[in-house]
Parts: sequence; C-alpha cells; structure tokens
Amino acid sequence: MSTAAAYAVSAPDGRFEKLAIERRELGPHDVLIDVKYAGICHSDIHTARDEWGGTRYPCVPGHEIAGLVAAVGSAVTKHQVGDRVGVGCMVDSCGECEACLAGEEQYCVPGNTMTYNGKVSPQTQAGGYTLGGYSTQVVVTEGFVLSIPEGIGLDEAAPLLCAGVTLFSPLRHWNAGPGKRVAIIGMGGLGHVGVKIAAAMGAEVTVLSHSLSKQEDGKRFGAHHYYATGDRQTFRGLRSRFDLIINTVSADLPIDDYMKLLALDGTLVILGLPENPLSVKPFTLAGYRRSLSGSMIGGIAQTQEMLNFCAEHGIGAEIELISADRIDEAYDRVVASDVRYRFVIDAATI
Ligand code: NAP
Ligand code: ZN
Repeated sequence: MSTAAAYAVSAPDGRFEKLAIERRELGPHDVLIDVKYAGICHSDIHTARDEWGGTRYPCVPGHEIAGLVAAVGSAVTKHQVGDRVGVGCMVDSCGECEACLAGEEQYCVPGNTMTYNGKVSPQTQAGGYTLGGYSTQVVVTEGFVLSIPEGIGLDEAAPLLCAGVTLFSPLRHWNAGPGKRVAIIGMGGLGHVGVKIAAAMGAEVTVLSHSLSKQEDGKRFGAHHYYATGDRQTFRGLRSRFDLIINTVSADLPIDDYMKLLALDGTLVILGLPENPLSVKPFTLAGYRRSLSGSMIGGIAQTQEMLNFCAEHGIGAEIELISADRIDEAYDRVVASDVRYRFVIDAATI
C-alpha cells in the first residue's frame, strides 16, 4: 500500500476537500502513475452530486488522467518508468466475454470496472470501490493504461481519455468522413473535441448550440456551419439535413425536434446522460427510416487509435488549467455552460 493525496466529496451537496487515500501494492501487471493532469468531465459532476444514484462516499472522481509512469510491476511489458501515459473511464474488465474479446471493453457483459465509484474487492481498494484521478497517484493494470504520443501536451491530452474517445468511437462507427453531414449538439467538453475530430475525418460539420456565442470558436475548431437552437427557424431550416447527429448535451432536450433534422437513414446518437427518459414520436422515426442510438466511451484499442489520430492531426482539448482548490467553482461553471472548453486540474496543486 502507498498513500496518495486526493480531492474528495463526502455528500451529494458537499464541497471538495483534500483527503489521504491508499493505493494498492503493485501487482505483477500493475503500473503506478504519477498523475500530472486530471480533466473535469460532466459525468464527474453527475456522480459527485449523485444525480444517477449509487454514488459511494467519499467520492474521488476523475477519469481523464494523464501522467508519467513512476513504477511498474515485475511482469509489465507495455510501459516503462518515465513513459507518458493516460487512463480513461475504465480500469479493468472481465477480458473473456463477447464484448471484451471484440475489444469493446466498455460493453463488458458482466460489467467493467469504472475508474471511480466502480466495485472492486476491498484488497484492491479499501472501501470496496475505486477512487479516481483527482489524486497524485493511481495504480492501474497495464492493459488499461494508454500511451500518450509525443506531440500532444499531457494537459491537453487528459480530456481526450474520455471526451476524445466518446466522440471518436461513434464518428468511426457511423463512418463520419467525406460526404457525410454530421451535426454535433452542444459544444462543451465533449462537443468541442467532437468538432475537431469530425472535421479532421473530413466530414461536413455543423454545430447546434443553444446560442451563437461560441460560433467563432466553433469555426476555428473546424465546423463548417453553426446554428443556435434557441432560434426556432433553425429547426425549420435544417429539416432532414444530416446523416449523423451526435447529442452531447448534459440536460433534457426535446429530442423529437432534433430527430426531424435527420435525412433518410440518418442516425441520432445519444452521448449526453441526463437521468430522464426521452420521448420520440413513432412518425418521426418511421417517416425517413431514422434511427435513434447511443454510444458509451470506446474500447481500449480504439482509445489508443484516437490518441494516435489526435497526435497526427494536431488535436488537443482546449483547456482551462485550475488548481485543485477550485474544483467546486469549476463544477458550477460547467453546469452553467461557462466552460471554454474543459477544466483540467493541475495535480501538482493537490
Ligand atoms: P459539458 O462540458 O457541460 O457540455 C455540455 C454542453 O451541452 C454545454 O456546453 C452546452 O453546449 C450544452 N447544454 C448544457 N446544458 C444545456 C441545456 N440546458 N440546454 C441545451 N444545451 C445545454 O459536458 P460534457 O463533459 O461534454 O458531457 C456532456 C454529457 O455527456 C454529460 O451528460 C456526460 O455525463 C455525458 N458523457 C457521456 C459519455 C458517454 O460515454 N456516453 C462520456 C462522457 C460524458 P452549448 O452551450 O453549445 O449549447
Ligand atoms: Zn467523462
């Protein structure tokens, strides 16, 4: 066991406080990582505030982790001390089910182990659940530790470990590329990385944001078109326009209105995860053979593919670096959509 410093919240309405936590002894396949940066994902907020239910406290969120390898277990072959590495939303999976064998560990049938608030044995983590990246060190089995290529700063790479792959995976799955009209709803942490990746894949990219206040940034990230969803004319003018619509919004949306913007055989993919059910009219689906789907992060191999793609295309997240004592303030600003475009905690301040 080793001790690390972390920032934890102790109740749904609590404030973040510094806490000493235990990290497990290195097993043969384990990697000890000195965390340098941890991104703040909206899922951290949903969890810390128990908006999905089932949060165990004290809760240390953080699944956008970038750092350097500090030590490796005796059987580790994938990483060496000093390597630039990242950890995303998962730290383990069964490795044997259909999904894991297909490299889609995010859909592990018995259930993967999430980086925080994930069930583990008390030997793995005191308390029986995982503690995430808002901390100075983490221990993760080598198969779930990604390599961060040279050419991306560790700070701008951290958000790619969740936001990056969450967008990359559906863009690849639904073949975003030249000739495809892709719309991204919400240009926050996920959305802004999605704009960059979709544009780099060669798709025609449209942002659907609630106002035009971030339009110039959207164009700079590679969007070809930008519309305000607060303007009803947007919905009339864009009817049946898109092959693929990706919804990154963290709040409830009138999803049927957005479904009508899909062209024949188009798909709307849900990434944003507010807790309430969606409502879609059968006529909206049947009319143009439209599909409604969803997508959850991405597998480990695809996460590495995404990091390599981003390095090759010069893509990093746009970040605002904060000290750990400002996490509460950052959460409030994310919820108010006042983030440009991802808060990242400087782990040196933990
Ligand atoms: P974020 O940075 O807060 O971005 C969400 C964006 O949604 C905002 O920037 C805003 O964009 C828009 N928005 C927010 N509230 C809105 C409202 N009331 N009405 C209309 N638009 C609103 O959050 P994020 O970190 O990107 O995460 C987004 C969601 O994805 C969260 O629910 C998170 O839990 C989920 N998530 C899912 C996965 C997955 O694997 N499926 C992975 C990570 C995160 P505009 O200002 O441009 O309108
Ligand atoms: Zn996330």
